[in-house]
Amino acid sequence: MNNITNTFKFTSIALVIAASLSGCSQVQSNSTTTSQTEEKALTSQDAQVFLDDVAKEMTALGVSGARAAWIYSNFITEDTASLAAEADQKSTEAGVRFAMQAAKFDNVDVNPTQRRQLNILKQSLVLPAPQDSKKSAELAQIGAELGSIYGKGSYTTKTGEKLSLGDMTSIMSTSRDYDELLEMWQGWREISPSMKPLYARQAELANEGAKGLGYKDLGAMWRSNYDMPADDFANELDRLWGQVKPLYDDLHCYVRSELGKEYGEDKVPQDQPIPAHLLGNMWAQSWGNIYDVVAPDNADPGYDVTKQLAVHDYDEIQMVKGAEKFFTSLGFDALPETFWTRSLFTKPEDRDVICHASAWDLDAKDDLRIKMCIQKTGEEFSVIHHELGHNFYQRAYKDQPVYFQNSANDGFHEAIGDTIALSVTPKYLKEIGLIDTIPDESKDIGLLMKMALDKVAFIPFGLMVDQWRWKVYSGEITPENYNTAWWELREKYQGVAAPVEREQSAFDPGAKYHVPGGVPYSRYFLAHIQQFEFHRALCEIAGNTDPIHRCSIYNNKDAGKALNTMLEMGSSQPWQQAYKVLTGNEQMDATAILDYFAPLQTWLKDKNQGKQCGF
Ligand SMILES: [Zn+2]
Repeated sequence: MNNITNTFKFTSIALVIAASLSGCSQVQSNSTTTSQTEEKALTSQDAQVFLDDVAKEMTALGVSGARAAWIYSNFITEDTASLAAEADQKSTEAGVRFAMQAAKFDNVDVNPTQRRQLNILKQSLVLPAPQDSKKSAELAQIGAELGSIYGKGSYTTKTGEKLSLGDMTSIMSTSRDYDELLEMWQGWREISPSMKPLYARQAELANEGAKGLGYKDLGAMWRSNYDMPADDFANELDRLWGQVKPLYDDLHCYVRSELGKEYGEDKVPQDQPIPAHLLGNMWAQSWGNIYDVVAPDNADPGYDVTKQLAVHDYDEIQMVKGAEKFFTSLGFDALPETFWTRSLFTKPEDRDVICHASAWDLDAKDDLRIKMCIQKTGEEFSVIHHELGHNFYQRAYKDQPVYFQNSANDGFHEAIGDTIALSVTPKYLKEIGLIDTIPDESKDIGLLMKMALDKVAFIPFGLMVDQWRWKVYSGEITPENYNTAWWELREKYQGVAAPVEREQSAFDPGAKYHVPGGVPYSRYFLAHIQQFEFHRALCEIAGNTDPIHRCSIYNNKDAGKALNTMLEMGSSQPWQQAYKVLTGNEQMDATAILDYFAPLQTWLKDKNQGKQCGF
C-alpha cells in the first residue's frame, strides 16, 4: 500500500487531495504563524526568541487547522472545503515566511538544537516560493491548478461511460482483458498533457525559491532532509536498491512469464520490459492485485481472515479494539476515551466523507483519532494495525518540543505502521483466537508471494519517481524530455514499459498524484526498506526463533519497550540515532528484506530455471 505522510501543515493542501487518492495518511496539528526578526546582526539569542515565538504560535494555531481539515474530511461540503482551504493557505503563507526568516540565521553561531530546529523550518516547505510576491502568488496558483486538474481528472470510455480514477483503479485491479486495461491505462493519461507547461514553470519557480534558501536546486533541498550531505543520500538509495535488485529481478522474471501465459507471449514478450497496464495497478507500482494470475499452486493457507472475522462476530469497533490490544500487549497505554468517541470507523449513510484510511493527532497531546470506512476484511484488519501504529508514534513523541513532534525521517511514520502490520501473522491470528491452526511452512510461499507483489515490486518505483524529479530540478531533464526520460527510468529500474508508443504531447509523470501534488516520494522507498529492518530487529529482541516472516512481536514487552524508545525520540536527533536505538546500526540495511523473503526467493529461482530473465 502506498501512503501519504504529512509533516508540517505547510503541505496540507496537498494532503487533503492526496488523502482521497492514496492509501493512508497521518496528520498532525502543527501549524504556523508570523514572527519578526531584525535585519541587523543576529545572535543565538535572537534565534531562540524567534524559535520560541514560532513554537508558541504553532501550538496555538495547530488545533484549529487540524480541526478544519478533520471537519472537511468528515463532512464534505463547499463550506467545509473552503474553510479547510483557507486554513491551508494561511499555514502555507506562514511557512514561507518562517523558512525565509530561518534562513537568515544560516551564518549565525547557534547551538545544535537551534540549528536543527531552524533547518526543520527551512526544509518544511516542499515547494519554496521565490522572495517575490508576484512569483510566490504564481507558484501557489500553479499548485492549485495542478491539483485541480488531477482531482477533477476523469475519462469517458469509447462506449460513452464517464469514469473517475476510483472506477478505473478498480477496473485495473480486477480486469484481465488486455484491451480494456489498455483503454483505462491510456484514458487516465489523457488528463496530464495540459499539466506539462504548468509543471515546467512550477519547477522553475520552486528552484528559484530553493536557491534563495541556499540550496543548489530543489532536488538538493529535498535530499538535504536526511541528516547527511545531499549527494550521499542519493548514493545511499542506490546502494540499498543494489541490495534488493536480485530479489526484484527474480520476482520480475517469474511474473513476466506468468503474464506471458495469461495474455500470450506476443503481448508479453519474454525478453522485454513488462507492459505497464498488466500489473493490476494504474501505475504498475504494486502488483498485489494480480496475485490470482501468478499464485503458486497449493499455496492456499487454509483459512480466510475475512471469513474468520465473520465467524467470530467481529464488528468494526471490535476490529479496532483487537488492533489496540496488539499495542497494549507490547506495554503501550490504551488509547484515550476520546479516540473511541471522536474517530470515524464506518462510512456514514447520510453524508460524503473521505474514506481513505488516515491517522490523526489533533492537539499533539491526546486527541488521537483514525478516520476509516472499515470493511470487515482481513486486509482492513491489517490496515487498522497500520493506522494505530501512526497514532502510537504520535503519542510517543508528544512531549518533544513542537519542532520534533515528527517522524525521525519522513520514511519512519509509514515504516512503523507497516512494521506493526508485518506482525499480523498466522501465529498472531491464532494467539488472538481468530484462526485455529497455523498453516505449515509449505503454505508460506503464497503469503510471501502476495506480500512481495505489494512490497518488493514497489521498491524500484519508490526510487525512480524522485530520480526523475531530481533530474528535472537539476536541469538534466528538460521539458522536451520529460516523458521519454520518465520511461527510460521506468524501464531501467522497474523493467516496465509503456504498452503503446507515447505521443509527443504526453506527460505521464503528471498522471501519478505525487508529481502534480508536489509530494516527495523517496519516503516511500525508505519506508519499504526500514520496515523490514525494524521487524527483524524487534523479532530479535523478542527472542524469536522462527523465520522472520513467521514472527509476530505480539505480547512481547521487551520489543514494545525498544520500539517505544525509538518512537519517543520523534525527530529530536538525526534519524540515524533513532535507527540505532532499535537496529543497532546507523545505516539502513536492505538484507532484512532478503531474509524475510528468503523462502520465496529460493522458490522463484527454482521456477525461473531455464527462463530468460532480465530486461
Ligand atoms: Zn500510513
